[in-house]
Amino acid sequence: MQVIASIFDMQSTAEDLRSKDRLIGLVPTMGALHEGHLSLIRLAKERADTVIVSIFVNPTQFGANEDFASYHRDLPRDVELCEKAGADLVFAPTAEEIYPKGYSTYVTEESISKTLCGISRPSHFRGVTTIVAKLFNIIRPDLAVFGQKDAQQGAVIKKMVNDLHFCVDIVVAPTVREPDGLAMSSRNRNLTATQRTEALAIFQALHKAKEMVDGGVYNADRLIAEATHHMGERRRVRVIYTSIVDRGTMEAVREVLPGKAMMAIAAWVDEVRLIDNILL
Ligand code: AMP
Repeated sequence: MQVIASIFDMQSTAEDLRSKDRLIGLVPTMGALHEGHLSLIRLAKERADTVIVSIFVNPTQFGANEDFASYHRDLPRDVELCEKAGADLVFAPTAEEIYPKGYSTYVTEESISKTLCGISRPSHFRGVTTIVAKLFNIIRPDLAVFGQKDAQQGAVIKKMVNDLHFCVDIVVAPTVREPDGLAMSSRNRNLTATQRTEALAIFQALHKAKEMVDGGVYNADRLIAEATHHMGERRRVRVIYTSIVDRGTMEAVREVLPGKAMMAIAAWVDEVRLIDNILL
């Protein structure tokens, strides 16, 4: 498995692939790979000839007091998992390569990134759009796969691609869950057994809302009240937001239009910040 660290090498390798008419699929990740990431790689492999996985813990998408320094890093293990899942190449640059001294250019999406996680993490999506725009420019993939688990990120990227005329198809893949429903996340490894049990309340709250919608309850306030009540019974869970939003704009809606809305939750489980969502 080829692992490329330099931008120049990545550009020339991608150029070479394009000259051979290979369809390039990109899966951007921050490493600490789990089955959710691997499902994106497999989906990319179904749709593209060559799958490139980027592994980069992107400093600009972390706030000052967030977990950038402690974010789990294990490149050899991640490369092995990428290979097993069918990836062809890993792009793993250093932070200095991506943001050299004096770096000063950023990409900002100014609508979708303001709601939900944008409120509690005001510079997060600027970091995401900047790194994804850079990856698109370096690799020029034909398609890129993102996970529904980070639904707002997917919507922001789609908007950026549309607004800035990137020639890349954005594919959003379903959320992969643990058998009991907890959404897989690189941050789950930071949960103790007790926290892990309490974290399940997030999925249960989403699941409850989905059941209510299927039973004919469309009022957002009622659904949110039920979901927050459920999580409120867990001592270690502190809800950051529970919202019902339009899937495209991420703006809050008062009534669920089935097929158009989703419930999104962000919560602290002690010091671990988790997000999840469910399509309604
Ligand atoms: P991350 O490494 O957390 O930045 O995530 C990299 C990509 O994997 C993003 O597109 C995420 O949405 C996606 N992803 C993370 N967790 C899951 C999951 N449980 N199921 C599907 N995709 C996921």
